[in-house]
Amino acid sequence: MTTTSTDALSPFRNRFIFPQHEGHPVVYLCGNSLGLQPASVRAALLAELDQWATYGVEGHFMGDQPWMYYHKFLTPQSARLVGALPHEVVVMNTLTVNLHLMMASFYRPKKGGRYKIIMEAGAFPSDQYAMETQVRWHGFDPADAIVEVAPRPGEELLRTEDILDTIHAHRDTLALTLFGGVNYYTGQWYDMPAITQAAHAAGAYAGFDLAHAAGNVPVQLHDWGVDFAVWCSYKYLNSGPGGPSGAFVHERHASDPDLPRLAGWWGHDEKERFKMRKGFIPMYGAEGWQISNAQIFAFAAHKASLDIFDEAGMAALREKSVVLTGTLVQILDEIDPDQRFFKIITPRDPQQRGCQLSLLTQQRGKEIFDALTAQGIISDWREPNVIRFAPVPLYNTLEDLEQLREMLPKIMNRV
Ligand SMILES: *Cc1c(COP(=O)(O)O)cnc(C)c1O
Repeated sequence: MTTTSTDALSPFRNRFIFPQHEGHPVVYLCGNSLGLQPASVRAALLAELDQWATYGVEGHFMGDQPWMYYHKFLTPQSARLVGALPHEVVVMNTLTVNLHLMMASFYRPKKGGRYKIIMEAGAFPSDQYAMETQVRWHGFDPADAIVEVAPRPGEELLRTEDILDTIHAHRDTLALTLFGGVNYYTGQWYDMPAITQAAHAAGAYAGFDLAHAAGNVPVQLHDWGVDFAVWCSYKYLNSGPGGPSGAFVHERHASDPDLPRLAGWWGHDEKERFKMRKGFIPMYGAEGWQISNAQIFAFAAHKASLDIFDEAGMAALREKSVVLTGTLVQILDEIDPDQRFFKIITPRDPQQRGCQLSLLTQQRGKEIFDALTAQGIISDWREPNVIRFAPVPLYNTLEDLEQLREMLPKIMNRV
């Protein structure tokens, strides 16, 4: 069952620090929520403490990685990660903040014109709150302006045709589509190119929240023509709690001076940044959306992690991911063939999912989840009744899944 890529990637496991359970590393299937710590992060943080100690304020311009340019040191890896040109991406702020900043540019509703947002029903709450308050802030009614695409009765997943039909139906009033890349609850990977095309055909912008997609599935934001995207770095990207966010703005918007934005000095032309003059002149590309100077310690951890992704490569990671998650499906089907305890709601087609599998639990789901945790198998629980398992290709192995195969039936017999 091993493939070239699982073998080639196996040394990467040793680059991560595992919490221990009774003297052994836990089986960590929770990279969808908070990725494990790369061992290299500690040195990366210490290097910045040293930089500060050595240079004080001069650290902005001295040393190997002067703080003044720090965001740029994360750009090439971020661009490769999401299929973007370097000037289309920037690391800044945190995810929901960046979502609001992108909305400031790409959601400009007009009375009697375009004002609607189409999104998936049951999006992550932060995205729901962001959309709701954006709509209100512009003086519109969320009940009218936000159109949610929901699964059909009796189904768990969205059908692409239903998404596209909804976009078409609202084509005269649609301002924006905002979907997750991969839905946090079901693990469904939406057809991002099709959604983007349909949004553009309707005369609207297409934005994506890649919180559960970045570092999980291969995306090609530039080629797909996506207008903007945002993602966080602490889930699949292993950059630590509260880690910084990435943002993508397509090249076609890179130098549009008419696109309004909420600016700060770090988005201002860097040649003029310290001249402290009036009049905002944005940097070309995504850098022009920066507001504040870089959060160096968080960025240092993020850089250490991005470097690992870059070394492994998304193509190889994806290949191993498909093997791992496919194996997990087989194991779960064998353990509970009649779906007495749980039903996998994530798509069975690997092209429509990343590594995460969501199990809708039928009986005693929370007890099963708690018992797994007590045995050192770390997954996560989403109310009201879903267990999420996410074997990630950087540090999970087929042996991890064997441990689950052994433990889960015992637990199911007990609860
Ligand atoms: C994890 C997640 C968030 C969290 O937002 P923060 O601003 O980083 O706290 C938001 N949206 C989605 C879709 C998520 O998965």
